[in-house]
Amino acid sequence: MFSNKTEFKETFLKRLEMLYGKSFSESSERDHYQTLGNMIREYVSNDWIKTNESYLAGKEKQVYYLSIEYLLGKLLRQNLINLGIEDTVQQGLHELGIDLSELEELEADAGLGNGGLGRLAACFLDSLASLNLPGHGHGIRYKHGLFEQKIVDGYQVELPEQWLRGGNVWEVRKADLAVKIPFWGKVEARTENGRLVFHHLNAETVTAVPHDMPVIGYETKTVNTLRLWNAEPSQFPFHTDILQYKRETEAISEFLYPDDTHDEGKILRLKQQYLLVSASLQSIIKTYRKQHPNMNLFHHHVCIHINDTHPVLAIPELMRILIDEEGFEWERAWHITTNTISYTNHTTLTEALEKWPIRIFQPLLPRIYMIVEEINERFCQQLWEQSPGAWERIGQLAIIADEYVKMAHLAIVGSFSVNGVAKLHTEILKTREMNQFYQLFPEKFNNKTNGIAHRRWLLKANPKLSTLISDAIGTNWATSPNDLTQLLKYQDDPSFLEQLFKIKKENKQTLADIIYSKTGTIVNTDAIFDVQVKRLHAYKRQLLNVLHIMYLYNRIKEDSSFTVVPRVFIFGAKASPGYYYAKKIIKLINTVAEKVNNDPIIGDKMKVIFLENYRVSLAEKVFPASDVSEQISTASKEASGTGNMKFMINGALTLGTLDGANIEIQELVGASNIFIYGLTAEEVLHYYQHGGYQSIEYYHHDSRIRQAVDQLVNEFFPGVHNEFEPIFDSLLEENDQYFVLKDFASYADTHKTVGETFMDQRKWQKMSLINIAHAGYFSSDRTIKEYADNIWGIKPR
Ligand SMILES: *Cc1c(COP(=O)(O)O)cnc(C)c1O
Repeated sequence: MFSNKTEFKETFLKRLEMLYGKSFSESSERDHYQTLGNMIREYVSNDWIKTNESYLAGKEKQVYYLSIEYLLGKLLRQNLINLGIEDTVQQGLHELGIDLSELEELEADAGLGNGGLGRLAACFLDSLASLNLPGHGHGIRYKHGLFEQKIVDGYQVELPEQWLRGGNVWEVRKADLAVKIPFWGKVEARTENGRLVFHHLNAETVTAVPHDMPVIGYETKTVNTLRLWNAEPSQFPFHTDILQYKRETEAISEFLYPDDTHDEGKILRLKQQYLLVSASLQSIIKTYRKQHPNMNLFHHHVCIHINDTHPVLAIPELMRILIDEEGFEWERAWHITTNTISYTNHTTLTEALEKWPIRIFQPLLPRIYMIVEEINERFCQQLWEQSPGAWERIGQLAIIADEYVKMAHLAIVGSFSVNGVAKLHTEILKTREMNQFYQLFPEKFNNKTNGIAHRRWLLKANPKLSTLISDAIGTNWATSPNDLTQLLKYQDDPSFLEQLFKIKKENKQTLADIIYSKTGTIVNTDAIFDVQVKRLHAYKRQLLNVLHIMYLYNRIKEDSSFTVVPRVFIFGAKASPGYYYAKKIIKLINTVAEKVNNDPIIGDKMKVIFLENYRVSLAEKVFPASDVSEQISTASKEASGTGNMKFMINGALTLGTLDGANIEIQELVGASNIFIYGLTAEEVLHYYQHGGYQSIEYYHHDSRIRQAVDQLVNEFFPGVHNEFEPIFDSLLEENDQYFVLKDFASYADTHKTVGETFMDQRKWQKMSLINIAHAGYFSSDRTIKEYADNIWGIKPR
């Protein structure tokens, strides 16, 4: 199509005319963006088709990754990088007077996810294609991604997100591959040819239309597919009120649920889950049937991975297809199903474990419910035979209990692999949260520590650092991230460390410019950029960070001789719209920011910045500019974290608890290259089990704590009345469930150490380099290889 910039320019101009019927001088930037996107899709189309053909011809095992979320961000530049045409395109455009980075601004973030779970799915897709692995994503094409956050008077305001407003240049709508999804109705059992068969009658059907996006591997010809399903009205619906039917149908793929922990308990959410699962299975089986005469060895050729429990209905849905449509007996269907499905657990927070009331589940999905009941009965029978009379155990393990369907139990019983996402998390699953299941099925449990697409979070997000690295150790680290360890030989090289420092400074300036343009606050790039960006949640303890900032403020105000190493505290966080407490914390951060930033006595010693609308594209600007990575969750609560890895690979030093993957970061860099503080998971879990923590004692005995906590409710913040009482109460009345006050002293001490260490710039730079050098382990390439080898059993094509 084009192999140099001259050809690129010619093709670009021709395509622009063809698509928009405009001459170049009449065309807009948006026309340019659309034209370029169109060209790239055509550029990959041949490899995309070839990849699919080779999968069909080769009959290799395929994996399908089912996820209710994909937090993709922008795709334009990553696609250009992966295709190896970034320079050609950038220069060609430049000669036409077009700035590639300005075109990038026109691309909307594809924000079809809340946070870590959705971003993990996006990173996995990149690694699957880059490793030439036969793995594809299935998800939902939400019309509106995660809400856009505005801060108004310090409060979060949510606006509907509009990523499809200008169309999505990357997708191909495949109306001919649409499938039907049945809801409601009733099930009739009949005996036909001596066999009991089930018919789903009077169902209201919805049409699911696939929209395929190419997933382009890095410097390889593999182009995999992300298939996103759109819910649309069927042509001849069984419904009395057509308009109502149309509204209800379109609502299914209208919004992403803006909550990454709580179960919303909405019919719509269950409809989304079943639509994803049923549409994906129909499409997977259609492809499979092109190569194989029957479903008997389905599990030898297909693996279906469920990202958390949201797609767990894949288990009863596959059973339904095998029994009702393919005529298998229960036992054989169960063998095939439980050898097809693998499952990742993402949390041990009990409030986040999905469960559905039978009264919602049964009428909406009558046949699926029957199958879940049967799975449950057989499972409970098995438990009974193992230990007759152990009613309590059966009640605890049952899939259906107390009028609820427990999705995690269904996932464990109906899959062949259950993995946690970091060593500690998997241990907690095995020894505590899922211990009874672990005893039943020890062979199913395994760990796959999360990873990040280092080609996005370093190669793309931090081009200057990437160039420095490639000049030093060559470019192989892009495909062999462990090569980054070769950087260790520069750890005492002053000129290398100096360049590292210079790049960090430039990236800090870029972020400082963004901060100025968004908030009007000028920040000093010599200060420590101390950053906490992630969803707002009590267990992530943004509150601990804020209380410590209030303490520093108080110290500076009281004692003019008190010296601090200047800091810019940067926050970015969306709170779930219904999460009242989290929204209070956002208001608190903004209130503290207002006070600190406008106090002349504080000046450049401290600034507090809340970055509005934290999302992938903003994150790509934040990590390269960070000095300190705040990973301060209550130990045991953060399953893995992946933000911690993105900071690390960009040379920020972790200030964190021994939680999630922080533990594995410490194992890699050594205790002297990370700032660890606070309770361990074991200590936290011991307190939860046996009690013994009284937050009020810490309030009484530590004047730093008392002063800051009192300021939440006294006249310290002018004009806010009772605003922060719920926060005050959570700490004292409710005995501080997340050990904020307990960990305060060690957090403050460790911050002091951070400051002192930063004063020794050479030492800091060396620590930073050591972190970058060891971050290759956290590439999702490593994670995906482990999934491919140890769970999925797939091989590179
Ligand atoms: C990586 C990422 C997350 C996850 O961050 P954690 O610190 O692991 O919770 C959330 N949101 C965005 C936009 C991300 O890029």
